[in-house]
Amino acid sequence: MRVIVLALLLVGALQVSHAQEQDQTVVLISIDGFRHDYIEKYDAKNIAAIAEQGARAEGLIPVYPAKTFPNHISIVTGQYPSNHGIVDNRFFDTERQQKYQMGDGVKDSTWLTTLPIWNLAEFQGVKAATFFWPESEARINGRTASYYFNYSKPAPYEQRIDQIVQWLQLPKPARPRLVTGYFSLVDTMGHRFGPDSEQVKEAVSYLDELIGDLWQRLQNDVDAPVNLILVSDHGMTQITAAEMIDPAQLPIDNELFTVVNAQTRLLIYPNQETTEAQVNELRQQLEAMPNRQFVIESEAQLQALNVSQGPRKPSLILGVDAPASFGRGAPEEWRDGGTHGYHSHRDMDGIFIAAGPAIKQQHPLPRFQNIHIYPFMAKLLSLELLTPIDGDETVLQPLILTK
Ligand SMILES: [Zn+2]
Repeated sequence: MRVIVLALLLVGALQVSHAQEQDQTVVLISIDGFRHDYIEKYDAKNIAAIAEQGARAEGLIPVYPAKTFPNHISIVTGQYPSNHGIVDNRFFDTERQQKYQMGDGVKDSTWLTTLPIWNLAEFQGVKAATFFWPESEARINGRTASYYFNYSKPAPYEQRIDQIVQWLQLPKPARPRLVTGYFSLVDTMGHRFGPDSEQVKEAVSYLDELIGDLWQRLQNDVDAPVNLILVSDHGMTQITAAEMIDPAQLPIDNELFTVVNAQTRLLIYPNQETTEAQVNELRQQLEAMPNRQFVIESEAQLQALNVSQGPRKPSLILGVDAPASFGRGAPEEWRDGGTHGYHSHRDMDGIFIAAGPAIKQQHPLPRFQNIHIYPFMAKLLSLELLTPIDGDETVLQPLILTK
């Protein structure tokens, strides 16, 4: 018995020393809109097998709002949207008097107010590469990753995988130790056809093949200790055209307010001359509407969702629950489909899977919020955190084999 225990301890020690002797590499892949239950629902065998070898969370809880840009930026900054700056896919800034929409950071990186993981790496002499990640082309803090591409939705997925593997095969001085990849197909199909559709099933199967191929090549063709982290930014839920609200029917005076339709929320900003009394008057009018399907988010609710004061915080936020949403375009064009961006609930959960030489097998791992991934990646890469963050490094610390 004692011999067995000793042998087990020895194996453990060898694993630890093997992982410690080399600088670890992190490949972070996002499959946009991949809901937490798609692995079983659509039988994603390869992804399930990777999870089996490492850790899989029961769900990855998105930050509010459960939209693509705020969540991708929270994953790579460890910050809530109020602190990293990208508070929705579309929003208004009352100080700048400008609207932001997805990707505007590329033209003006001051929309982002914190340090992404690829810059944290580069500042500490660790090369990074991004074959897409929202806002990864933006020159945040005056720089980008050593290797990056300008976003192109049609860029073939196989080519992205090839490039990721090729980067990891570069001679050591040129080789990145942090690589990100991004795939939008599952989200696109989820929006168009809903989460229960054949099209989402096919998209999941395709991505599952692709990720399986990447995993094989990381094992066989790459001579570096690579840890794969597979995430999604949010889940997906069914919406119906019948439940859509027409923002044009609401008593909002466009002379007084700038309205941003974020589909699951309506963001109402005061114009420069608009008074507090006029904001209150609108609030009362909206509250008095009979049979309204939306809520006016309270200050206490917003605080609980980590929305803090600032020029990007609307005066009023109207929120809805699925299957309702705010319709876009002409009502005759509204269609059933899928969306995300609601308050956190189970359908909004994404996935978190991590496997590699520095990661323990951990089953089950409870659901957790995506702001904790940043300090986890920093730890795997032996990077010091250079700025205060919202994420807590102790949440994923138990997954790390070596540190
Ligand atoms: Zn998304």
